[in-house]
Amino acid sequence: MKNDLMALLEQIERADAVVVGGGSGLSSAAGYNHYHWMPYFQKCMQDFIECYGFSSPFAGFYHCYSSPEQQWAYYARYLQAMWDAPTGQPYLDLKVILDKKDYFILTTNVDGQFNRVFDKERICSYQGDFSYLQCCQPCHDQIYMNREITAKMNQSIQGVILPSDHIPRCEECGRIMIPWVRDDTFLEGTAWKESVSRYERFLEKYIIEQPDKKVLLLELGVGEMTPSIIKLPFWDMTVKNRNVFYACLNEKKSSAPEHIKEKSLYIAQDLAVTLHDLKVF
Ligand SMILES: [Zn+2]
Repeated sequence: MKNDLMALLEQIERADAVVVGGGSGLSSAAGYNHYHWMPYFQKCMQDFIECYGFSSPFAGFYHCYSSPEQQWAYYARYLQAMWDAPTGQPYLDLKVILDKKDYFILTTNVDGQFNRVFDKERICSYQGDFSYLQCCQPCHDQIYMNREITAKMNQSIQGVILPSDHIPRCEECGRIMIPWVRDDTFLEGTAWKESVSRYERFLEKYIIEQPDKKVLLLELGVGEMTPSIIKLPFWDMTVKNRNVFYACLNEKKSSAPEHIKEKSLYIAQDLAVTLHDLKVF
């Protein structure tokens, strides 16, 4: 393991640019797992768990509620829990590791943790971000930071119900607002398109315009659920470009394709430990 860490450190040092691919495993390593209950969210959502028996925070989010008052009570509490969550140590460690590097972050995480630590212009939140709301249609191209309205809603929740007049409504069409995260009405509007363009521009600047520059693709906690966003494009860039190197850090062992064996490394252990060790080395 120590040799792998040293090899990775060397790759980071050599790299002219680092592209981070951040997945749910990174937030899990910070204590914020959305697919299974961990103590922080379990404590925040306790009364909803008792009422509905949800198996995870996301199960509560995607549950088909019988009324918007029930649905928005859960949303409001869940969003508040994310706003209140202390910034995860692995994110802070990553910031130190990337210090003085030119970097860009592509993430499928929607919990806003990257935004706490890194320059927003260098982040593409491909699946959206719970920090924002959109119209449920959506009828117009705008996302809205929800910090204040979330705090207000939380003062009004009664049991597991949010009274109707506190449910956020679209100022344009009057329909209910929803968190800006991937589902069938997800708003891929101006904000989303601009962040995707910034990501593409970053890749273009190094990989196409300066093929002699060394680029490290640093994949952190990406599972196998949506490989088409981070994992497969990272493999593809590694195969096609001489100066691209791929590093995959995950708690569990990940698939390691044969054709990029010479240009990749894998560290399978708790990401909190790996990032801490990389920071202090
Ligand atoms: Zn609307």
